Amino acid sequence: MINPECAKCKPKYCSQGITEESLLPSFCPIKNFKSLIKKATKKYRSKEIQPFYLNSALIEKESYEKKAAREEGKTVPVRPRIREVVEFAKKIGVKKIGLSFCSGLSDEAARANSILEKHGFEICSAICCCGSIDKSE
Ligand code: SF4
Repeated sequence: MINPECAKCKPKYCSQGITEESLLPSFCPIKNFKSLIKKATKKYRSKEIQPFYLNSALIEKESYEKKAAREEGKTVPVRPRIREVVEFAKKIGVKKIGLSFCSGLSDEAARANSILEKHGFEICSAICCCGSIDKSE
């Protein structure tokens, strides 16, 4: 089996909608995992997953804007990620959100918690060292 190595792929053909095999690098998963991709695509269409997937795709699309041609036509984000999370959670009717975080990001976690609560969500949060068990154990 050839490992997928997207991190080494400079052109990122997939992000441009290009799937022409002759262009794709040898380690490209589009080339090497066709049946898995087909299976995953089928699963995205299932009744349980499709609403989640569809709404996440819509939120993502609304979060980016194509810049004017004079600015090289680049696609740029127009919302911070936390706003994407809020909009997505609202769209799928979520009331309660789980927030897990590293102790090194405690300040960020507290701020994310506060933002999410201000939007009316109930938040459950857990730190990585919850349980206070020594790593050597
Ligand atoms: S899926 Fe293929 S084209 Fe896309 S980044 Fe990975 S290797 Fe490159």
